[in-house]
This record gives sequence, structure tokens and C-alpha cells, in this order.
Amino acid sequence: MSLEEYKGVFIFAQQVDNELSNIALELLGKAKDLAADLDEKKVTAVLLGENVENLADKLAEYGADRVIVVDDPELKDYRTEPYTHALAEVIKEYKPEILLVGATAIGRDLGPRVSSRVHTGLTADCTQLEIGDFPLTPMPGQEQKHKQLLMTRPAFGGNTIATIACPNFRPQMATVRPGVMQKIAPNKGAKAEVVKFNPGFTKNNCYTEILKIVKETTNVANIADAKILVSGGRGVGSPENFKILEDLAEVLHGTVSCSRAVVDNGWKPKELQVGQTGQTVRPHVYFAIGISGAIQHVAGMEESDIIIAINKDENAPIFDVADYGVVGDLNKIVPELTKQIKEALAAKTEA
Ligand code: FAD
Repeated sequence: MSLEEYKGVFIFAQQVDNELSNIALELLGKAKDLAADLDEKKVTAVLLGENVENLADKLAEYGADRVIVVDDPELKDYRTEPYTHALAEVIKEYKPEILLVGATAIGRDLGPRVSSRVHTGLTADCTQLEIGDFPLTPMPGQEQKHKQLLMTRPAFGGNTIATIACPNFRPQMATVRPGVMQKIAPNKGAKAEVVKFNPGFTKNNCYTEILKIVKETTNVANIADAKILVSGGRGVGSPENFKILEDLAEVLHGTVSCSRAVVDNGWKPKELQVGQTGQTVRPHVYFAIGISGAIQHVAGMEESDIIIAINKDENAPIFDVADYGVVGDLNKIVPELTKQIKEALAAKTEA
């Protein structure tokens, strides 16, 4: 493999039912930074599906300079084999230096298969990506390579943070969880170069047949998109006591979320869990109420704009990441806070 032949930063632009997933736009935001650090002019999005070319404009608005479209009936709904084939053939033809994939259900299936097919490495569930030297500091007897993709992720159950590189193979592949990277502000009317690519599909016995698609229906709030999250931990004490958090969320037009201890206790569904094995969130305001601030929890919320912690233990680690902290009993503080916000809002309406 001649590494020099591989150029440019690519992202897999996930779409479902001809609608781009947010992760595609988030990856474009990061890809632009990486491309700038590599002095690369172009960011490329790879769009697979059937009748999806119309999505190229939105990708352009969010930073794609070029969109490679593979449009084929075989790609109508996600299936492992045709998608793996299409993305692997795009890599063989266009030789990207870096390829980013969302750590969604689709990306977690697709990314590793593609990396194996093109014989390169993949770092899963990255929380940080940057360009730098590898090894990070010079080591005797080992060549230090420059301008490598440094992929950082929690390791050993979140007890340490590992920075991983792929210096000898290309592309350098990473999956990134939704909510970790930031989209750029859209550049309305931007256009990308659209390139159509046909890898040819030959059905084999790995092509599954989709008999029926059953859409998940849930009444649970989507915490990843919430602007205000009122998050409760084991300190809330019981599922019934979450009522005081719901009241606070209601006056703030926010959403209730929780720590893993709460899910493990069966107090709230898994969809509301924030953290390493839950969702990554980035609201404007994050209330951490009765949450100790374990590293696995903090990994999912530390990028929130403002963090407000309420905890009776002044030494709780959550205060290390909080912008504002209140030490005391949540059973007294939360209802009082709700009451005062209600009064302030009522006074504002009257004025
Ligand atoms: P606790 O740690 O028990 O903290 C409760 C807090 O409430 C304490 O700080 C206490 O002082 C405070 N408190 C108690 N009563 C009151 C009161 N009346 N008023 C005010 N404060 C009070 N955790 C996650 O959250 N998300 C994850 O995704 C996640 N993934 C994990 C992955 C792995 C591999 C592992 C090993 C662990 C993971 N965890 C995760 C678990 C994590 O390590 C912690 O165990 C968990 O976050 C603790 O939840 P908690 O803060 O609600 O509970």
C-alpha cells in the first residue's frame, strides 16, 4: 500500500428514508477542521442510497465540497453487504486519507466491515479527533510520523483515555458517536461537486432480503436534541421523586434525563441515559441533580454549554465540571428553584 496515494478527508453521509441523519452534518463539521490541518482543500461526503442525489445540496451547505453518490435500488434500505461493497469500492477508487463514519446502529455495522474489506484499521466510538505526531512523543527506535489522525476514545470501561493512530494503513478510519462533534452554521445556497459512481452490484448469498420494516414507536423524549436537560441520579431516591425534576423541566420547557444508576434501578428507560454507554448530549443548560459525576457520566455531558450541579456532597466530582454548583438537599432545592422560576416568569408576563 502506497500511503502517499491516499488524499482527502471523507465522511459517510448516513441517510435513512432519504433523510440525512444529523451525524452526517456533525462529521462534516469535524472533517473541515481536519482537512484544514492537513492543508487539504476538499471535504468529500459519500452518499449511498436510492434517489438520494437531492441530498447533496444540504451536505454542501454543511461543508461538503464534493459528494460522491452511489445511487442504486440495492441501496434503498440499509443492508450490510451492498453498503459494504459500495463504500469499499468508493475507497478503492478515490483513496481517502481519512474516512469518518457515525457510531450509529448503521455505522457500527458498516464501519468495521468496510475497514476489514479494504484492510485498514478502525477506531470505534471516538470522542476527539485531531491531526498530530505519532507516537505523541519521539521514542527511540521508532519513526515518529507527522500529520497522522489521532483518535481518542475511552478505554478499559472508561477508566482511561486512549489515543490511537493508524500510521501504516489507509484510510485512517474512525467512528464517532452522535452529538460529539459540532455542525458548522449552514452556508445557504452552497453547492458541491456531485460525482456519480457505480460500483456494480453482484448479488451473493450475503445479500439479505428485507421482508418487513417495523418502525420503532416510542413516547420517550429525544434527549440528544434537547436544549435544556434536567438530569437526575441515584440521589433522587425513587422513581416517584422524579416528579420534582419533571416540574422543574416543565417550567423551563426542558426534558428529563438521567444517569445509568437510575436506568439500572429501573426508574427510567435506557433512552434517557446520559453517558458513555448512554447518549452524548450537548444542551445549552444541563442540570445534574443527585448525580455524583462519575467519569462515564461526565463523558456524555461535559460539552454542555452551562452545567448546574445540585448535590449534598460538596466533594462530589460533578462540581469539577459544573459552571454553577449548589451544595444541599435536592428535595429542598429543586422545588424551591421551580417555585422561584415560576414566580419570576409570572412577574415578567405581568410587566
Ligand atoms: P451515585 O454515584 O450513587 O451518586 C449519587 C449522588 O447523589 C451522590 O453524589 C450523592 O451525594 C448525591 N445525593 C444523594 N442524596 C442526595 C440528596 N438528597 N440531595 C442532593 N444530592 C444527593 N453512568 C452513567 O451515568 N452513564 C453511563 O453511560 C455510564 N456508563 C458506564 C459504563 C461503564 C463501562 C461503567 C463501568 C460504568 C458506567 N456508568 C455510567 C456508571 C458510573 O460509573 C456511575 O456508577 C453512575 O454514573 C453513578 O450514577 P449516579 O451519579 O446517579 O449515582
